[in-house]
Amino acid sequence: MTRTDGPTVTATRETHDAEVLIIGSGLSGIGAAVKLREAGVDDVVLIEKADELGGTWRDNTYPGCACDVPSALYSYSFAPNPEWTRAFAGQPEIRAYLHRTAAAHGITSLIRFGTEAVRAQWHPEDARWHIETNRDRYTARILIAAAGPWHDPLVPDIPGLAEFPGEVFHSSRWRHDHDLTGARVAVVGSGASAVQFVPAIQPQVARLHLFQRTAQWVLPKPDHSVPRAERWLMRRAPGAQRALRTAEYAAMEALGVGFRHPSLLRAVQKVGTLHLRATVKDPGLRRALTPDYTLGCKRLLMSNSYYPALTRPNVAVHATAVRAVEGSRVVGADGSAAEADTIILGTGFHILDMPIARRVFDASGASLDDHWKGSPDAYLGTAVSGFPNAFVLLGPHLGTGHSSAFMVLEAQLEYVAGAVRHFRKAGWTSLDVRPEVQAAFNAEVQQALPSTVYNAGGCSSYYLDSNGLNSFSWPWSTGRMRRRLARFDPEAYTSTSSAVRDRGYTDG
Ligand SMILES: Cc1cc2nc3c(=O)[nH]c(=O)nc-3n(C[C@H](O)[C@H](O)[C@H](O)COP(=O)(O)OP(=O)(O)OC[C@H]3O[C@@H](n4cnc5c(N)ncnc54)[C@H](O)[C@@H]3O)c2cc1C
Repeated sequence: MTRTDGPTVTATRETHDAEVLIIGSGLSGIGAAVKLREAGVDDVVLIEKADELGGTWRDNTYPGCACDVPSALYSYSFAPNPEWTRAFAGQPEIRAYLHRTAAAHGITSLIRFGTEAVRAQWHPEDARWHIETNRDRYTARILIAAAGPWHDPLVPDIPGLAEFPGEVFHSSRWRHDHDLTGARVAVVGSGASAVQFVPAIQPQVARLHLFQRTAQWVLPKPDHSVPRAERWLMRRAPGAQRALRTAEYAAMEALGVGFRHPSLLRAVQKVGTLHLRATVKDPGLRRALTPDYTLGCKRLLMSNSYYPALTRPNVAVHATAVRAVEGSRVVGADGSAAEADTIILGTGFHILDMPIARRVFDASGASLDDHWKGSPDAYLGTAVSGFPNAFVLLGPHLGTGHSSAFMVLEAQLEYVAGAVRHFRKAGWTSLDVRPEVQAAFNAEVQQALPSTVYNAGGCSSYYLDSNGLNSFSWPWSTGRMRRRLARFDPEAYTSTSSAVRDRGYTDG
């Protein structure tokens, strides 16, 4: 019950106390710190295992890396950026934006870099979280897990991969010191990252073998550079940028309606089919790239250059999973094989089995992972019974498949800031979501999911956990998400106040 992974604590020196401790300084951790400070909480510490903030946008430096939600929406509503140079900004711009925003809101100085949370446990005797790191110890009244669902690379268990004589790396840990010029490259995976880096490296490599387990729906990307005049307008008229954000939000939500009513997706699917037909002439290749499930069942992809890249003479598409690596040969489950000097894994992340769940423990020493048993759930995707005073950002059942993570995050932060405000005003020392409230929410979600495209679309996706349950998706609109999370609901929680805690019973 007390399994942890990661570094051992080698040099525990000092103990620091904070009111709120946030694990992670990606866009969630930064956003949480900003919102809590706005709510009047000054004593906030962020711990970050890396030496730089930015999370995903620090780690993913692969060629072509960019967001696939328009930038006006893939940004904080409280920090609009009139300087985006593209409709869908690239990684360097997003990384710089996060740095600027953190600095402008006084968050950078609150981050303890190079500090990795190894074990966080709730201690009822002092009603605080005790956090061990690879450096100092911390205690905190409130713990916020912002360690990122798309953080830990998923490296598939391919027989022979460890013995491959060439270079192997994951797309999120790109080896810029490894020159791909003239190389024979095998790419494993055809998801959101591969769709971006394949066209970027194709002109450079001698041969590119794409091992594609599942064909993806790829829509044209309405990307373009933003003219100077438009940027000038966005600077001068903040209302124009808000209007753009609202319009983009509405467009994404329209897609969301389809995701909840898959029969409406036929028209969008037609766009995908026409896009494939217009760019891929070879009938065999086109067949290999034609998905056999409903659009939206997996994360929707957008690219104008992916299909054209796959038609180039130096590219071969293997419509199969990889079965094994035998020496320098990558062998598909269908028996096809490719000689390679480099293998690039575009195989995604530990999304529903994120390592942080094995590092956060309840009072009895059971981890989140032990509670979840492979199927994460949390009340409103945010609070887990048995883990008082803790909030999980971008938690289970808040994934939308179409909207921006910033939208989800900001909805959640309204709730978390409300909870903390209430907590302080009421003089509470702990709040713990009632198990029956969490169970009822989970039942409501599971009841709504079967008719959505995520469950009914006929695919296997990262939305499904190791038990085959969809623990990822929010089955309703993001408007409903915002409404559900707009107000903290104390009645859903058991609370303890400092006055009564000493007498050994709870308030609520
Ligand atoms: C390549 C890529 C592109 C994406 N594009 C989009 C998009 O276009 N639209 C969209 O809506 N979503 C997108 N996402 C998903 C999501 O928006 C991003 O992953 C986003 O960065 C999540 O923010 P986060 O702060 O929650 O997590 P992260 O950005 O992953 O940050 C988590 C931070 O926590 C730190 N950390 C982890 N464990 C510990 C620990 N034990 N101790 C201390 N620190 C720790 C990490 O080092 C990291 O800095 C994308 C994801 C990826 C991978």
